[in-house]
Amino acid sequence: MKCTGPAFLWNRTASDVAVRSFDEAFGLVRAELALASGSGDAAEVFSAHLEMLEDPMLREAVDSELAAGKQPLEAVDAACSCICAMFADIDDEYLRARVDDVRDVFARLREAMCGESAVREIPAGSVIVSTELLPSDTARIDFSSISGILCARGSVTSHVCIIAHAHGVPIRVGADISGIREGDIVEVDDPLVGGTANVVAQVRAAGRRVYANAGSVEEVRAAIAAGADGIGLFRTEFLFIGRECMPSEDEQRALYREALGACGGKPLTIRLLDIGGDKSLPYLPVPAEDNPFLGLRGIRFLLAHPELAETQLRAIAAAACEVRDAHPDWFAFGTPVRVMLPMVCTVDEVRRVRSMLAGVAGETCPVEVGIMVETPAAVLCAQELAAECDFFSIGTNDLTQYVMAADRGNASVGSLYDAQSPAVRRAVALTVAAAHSAVRPSSPVSAARPSGIPVGICGELASDPSATSWLLASGLDSFSLSRL
Ligand code: PEP
Ligand code: MG
Repeated sequence: MKCTGPAFLWNRTASDVAVRSFDEAFGLVRAELALASGSGDAAEVFSAHLEMLEDPMLREAVDSELAAGKQPLEAVDAACSCICAMFADIDDEYLRARVDDVRDVFARLREAMCGESAVREIPAGSVIVSTELLPSDTARIDFSSISGILCARGSVTSHVCIIAHAHGVPIRVGADISGIREGDIVEVDDPLVGGTANVVAQVRAAGRRVYANAGSVEEVRAAIAAGADGIGLFRTEFLFIGRECMPSEDEQRALYREALGACGGKPLTIRLLDIGGDKSLPYLPVPAEDNPFLGLRGIRFLLAHPELAETQLRAIAAAACEVRDAHPDWFAFGTPVRVMLPMVCTVDEVRRVRSMLAGVAGETCPVEVGIMVETPAAVLCAQELAAECDFFSIGTNDLTQYVMAADRGNASVGSLYDAQSPAVRRAVALTVAAAHSAVRPSSPVSAARPSGIPVGICGELASDPSATSWLLASGLDSFSLSRL
């Protein structure tokens, strides 16, 4: 789909606009943050930002750069780098993870110095033009009012792309944004938006299931209303962004209960918290790592913090039991509640989560357990894993980066990061064959399936019309699309 609109420059420089003094900008930002921290969903975040702004350390850092002779905007940038470097060295994991908040506060100051409101309103219909948009930036964007996004950095599977696609907003990453000025009319061409109607038609014609990906209860509702056969990927980490602390077990139970209700008996695939790599939550810091995508990510992080996984599993199990009591008919042919483990590499990881689930909710808890197949290890051990799982879902976003050894967020290896490369196609074929030939022992929740377990796809590739034919030919049972 193509769209055009006036450019809204996210990171403006001194040459784009008149520059306000630091003091004036400071006052503006303080007033806006004080207002924003008074109410609304993100009030806690804004109040933490206000505290950070008022920390004398921030002003001292800027003053010392100004005293060294830097121009105001340069001084703000230098102070930001200096404070971020200090945070990176802190031993306390929680404080270290606040570095994104520091960047946010400085970004607001910068914006205010550039002559506009600290949190500039994005005019409806704009195309946002930016070097990069971080997860914290996306929280500031009203995706329902913009036309499109152009980003110089990032990849088609970066956080901002996933969210933009979920809202049907065309986005282009790796774009040449040099020379674009505020208000210029720019075009965004995104084949992944608007083409899903064809994908849906082909998948349905082949008799396979059409699921949707969702990151909020509203998205679950919208997908079911649009005719989805269920939710193939419910990204729970998206539920927890923009908060100051982890939701309690009871809050989580209520959320899962609501999402299950919105599905009305259709499958809801709840992925356990998938953080690490490029995703972190301010209150769940991931230790600094040289190679975060090869580090404490997904299931590894959860097994290192079992209390998190147990809370989530207890909340899901409680929601499942509540729904079963209220709607026994939804469970007549099996359970619609599916728990999915991210970033699995070994059978032991699955066994450990299963035993955790049995420990917190008993053996007869009406929940299926499956995995994301997104690592080469999972593909190569798919047979052994299928014997322990109720379903597979292929996560081509990560599978591609790990198979091709190409960072999914690094545009300079973008040509290698190809989800349709022969290596990834072969990985998909191997996974489907292993899943369909799996021999499963029966369990209290799922009857024995002599002919294997179902296998779907939930990476962005599922929505790409140019891949539909070969994905169907590979035998996948379901396609979970980023938007219906
Ligand atoms: C994937 O890796 O394909 C996937 C769907 O998960 P995420 O994009 O959230 O890592
Ligand atoms: Mg993934």
